[in-house]
Amino acid sequence: MSSRSRPDSIRETVAGVQSGQLSPIELTRDALARAEADAPLNCYLHVGTEAAMQSAEAIADKAKAGNPLGPLAGVAIAIKDALCTIDAPTTAASRILTRDGNYTSGWRPAYDATVVQRLRDADAVLIGKTNMDEFAMGSSNENSAFGNVRNPWDPSRIPGGSSGGSAACVASGSVAASLGSDTGGSIRQPASHCGVVGVKPSYGRVSRYGLIAFASSLDQVGPLANDVRGAARLLEVIAGPDQHDSTCAQRAVGKYESACDIVPKGLRVGVPEEYFAEGLDPRVQQAVTGVIDALREQGCEIVNVKLPHTQYGISTYYLIATAEASSNLSRFDGVRFGMRHEQSGDLLATYENSRGAGFGTEVKRRIMLGTYALSSGYYDAYYRKAQQVRTLIRRDFDQAFERADVLLTPVSPTVAFSLGERVQDPLQMYLADVYTLPASLAGICGMSVPAALSAPDGPTPALPIGVQLLAPAFREEVLFTAGAAWERVSPVRGSVAPPR
Ligand code: GLN
Repeated sequence: MSSRSRPDSIRETVAGVQSGQLSPIELTRDALARAEADAPLNCYLHVGTEAAMQSAEAIADKAKAGNPLGPLAGVAIAIKDALCTIDAPTTAASRILTRDGNYTSGWRPAYDATVVQRLRDADAVLIGKTNMDEFAMGSSNENSAFGNVRNPWDPSRIPGGSSGGSAACVASGSVAASLGSDTGGSIRQPASHCGVVGVKPSYGRVSRYGLIAFASSLDQVGPLANDVRGAARLLEVIAGPDQHDSTCAQRAVGKYESACDIVPKGLRVGVPEEYFAEGLDPRVQQAVTGVIDALREQGCEIVNVKLPHTQYGISTYYLIATAEASSNLSRFDGVRFGMRHEQSGDLLATYENSRGAGFGTEVKRRIMLGTYALSSGYYDAYYRKAQQVRTLIRRDFDQAFERADVLLTPVSPTVAFSLGERVQDPLQMYLADVYTLPASLAGICGMSVPAALSAPDGPTPALPIGVQLLAPAFREEVLFTAGAAWERVSPVRGSVAPPR
């Protein structure tokens, strides 16, 4: 299918299915055809045609029998491959979770992640698994064992990462929404580079049961969608307490969708000066300023705030995240979990050969960094110190939120960069996470909303630029109010990636 029109908004689709005007079977066929046409982007690792058609038929039967349909009735949704799905492989884009290195021999979980189960219960149609950086480690989707993903706006560029596949498939229009996971920016940053909405919920808002762990004190599952309201509806479905995850908060879920209709008059919007530092692309700066002006016009009060420990975010994150990763990934040893190398020999050789062949370069780098940071001689100097700085970063936000209801910042210092540009320079790659990491360390919630398109420049086409909204933990409603207020007046609302 060559059409690059986006599917309708989630609200329209569901209303159409519930009233009988839209057929879930036809919607699903259309989404599957679009997903097949996305092959050159490599955003899907798996398209589950049969399973999707079965769900669509079950929903159609339910409708025919006059039974009430769920809040996502007939909506095609793609799932990041870090989430367990009973009817599709689940590999976190790593060879170690396959039998022979090919995706088709990927691990088949015996259960669905809680968020996946909740989508099914809401009558969504899951159409496939999306590509990602291996174990969610990366910012460009170039660390996947199954090839990189291309940005639908410019296929020579990265889609962002690690949820690059989940952002690209919404931007290309094959689905209206997807699930991603965000440890230090992996939903917000690809959403920004692909021109879609992405929400990182507060830590503990959404169950992590069935999410393959990267860094357990930071990981959160969240929605990507083609509009703010769609993301709100998805979050309402997936959020809330889960008996399978004791780190998931026992708090009632907010009314995120109705928060989209609240007029933001009097809302205090904080602008942290540290987020507008050297290295910020002027096009990004201009896009963010445009959103600030628009919110001011709608009656928001713009205040300057300070987040003085921002400069320590990158080092703190890359110590804590790698430390937790080294521990989480120790289970993939070819004995308990993960592929076993044929040359196993004794136990040590089994570990070495299996992990050596199963993990990619970036994952190995992180395991080594994390193991070093946790080693007995260095624990105090690195890991403990990083935890102390994490507390200072959290306090920065507490103080800023005394003066502001929501913070507004860039998502990424630049537009999407070219494939291959930063592969040889991991530090350069890590530096690009400067605006997303602190919120993850503080456990607060954040959203990326399309702010503008850059002007085409010679061979470079127009590229999306996102703006980041941040709110205190468990105040997701504020994100939706501010995000929807901007979206209503945004000139890029509903922009679609042009045909390839
Ligand atoms: N880019 C960051 C990293 O590489 C964040 C990744 C994520 O949020 N999963 O660790």
